[in-house]
Amino acid sequence: MQVLDGKALAKTIKEELKADVDAIRRAAGKIPHLAAVLIGDDPASQVYVRNKVRSCEEVGFRSSLIRRPDSVSQEELLAIVNQLNDDPDVDGFIVQLPLPDHLDEDAINLAIDPRKDVDGFTPVNIGRMTLGLESYLPATPNGIMVMLERYGIETSGKEVVVLGRSNIVGTPMTVLLSRKSSPGNATVTLCHSRTKNLKEHTLRADIIVAAIGIPEMVTADMVKDGAVIIDVGINRVDDSSRPRGYRLAGDADYAGLQNKVSAMTPVPGGVGPMTVVSLLMNTLKASQRK
Ligand code: NAD
Repeated sequence: MQVLDGKALAKTIKEELKADVDAIRRAAGKIPHLAAVLIGDDPASQVYVRNKVRSCEEVGFRSSLIRRPDSVSQEELLAIVNQLNDDPDVDGFIVQLPLPDHLDEDAINLAIDPRKDVDGFTPVNIGRMTLGLESYLPATPNGIMVMLERYGIETSGKEVVVLGRSNIVGTPMTVLLSRKSSPGNATVTLCHSRTKNLKEHTLRADIIVAAIGIPEMVTADMVKDGAVIIDVGINRVDDSSRPRGYRLAGDADYAGLQNKVSAMTPVPGGVGPMTVVSLLMNTLKASQRK
């Protein structure tokens, strides 16, 4: 089995981005600047945002972190978004999800200027993506597409089953994989919590993209020999033998699938680092827009 090593690939792409930033600096151009808004102190969100900010530093981007407590009001957060929309120095920004329950995520998303939406979550970017127009592609699906491309995994004419229909992963993944491009040109089935006979679908798949959030749900009996598994899930599983009392597990049973599949992403170190790199690629693009 080939390990689709997102960590190593992300490192390579970061070196390429760093070379781009060095060239921009030599030409006295605009150094890309990403801002991240983090609300509250959800441990996973803190880790994700820290990784994003650290990655900016690694490639020579500028970054700003704006933190507010859980108690922030909708009006205060909207004011931050509007300020970032108007700040000519900030090329792109993200509002880390999930937001606390009292905040309206949709309203915040709609307030983000699509030209600065480097997460690719706003209706304009989702719509442009769907029409095949130039856009900021959602970070995780785009990171997966870059991974498929760089690892030379053929998608044309293949049966792909996407598990999970979230707006940020599953749904855009189906759009990107089925469009007329490379990678792309796949025959895509989207499965979700109401899908009947899930196994009938997954057994047909040449490629499975799992974005469900249930630890190790995709098991060897559900997968055909030689399939490719892209595991998006990041789940904490109690494990008293670990110093933190938990381990991270994907949505696929990595150990059980190793002798069955032809290629698979590990968790951690697979899709996660590609998501961050994809965000950086979007930020570079944002800094170069006219
Ligand atoms: P989500 O958590 O919003 O939704 C889960 C989806 O799974 C839903 O669409 C639901 O219909 C589907 N589902 C639930 N039970 C199912 C079942 N039994 N069979 C088939 N489908 C089922 O989705 P999300 O935000 O895409 O997150 C999914 C996972 O991916 C989570 O573990 C999340 O932490 C992880 N994630 C990782 C990255 C990354 O960069 N690696 C990015 C985003 C999300």
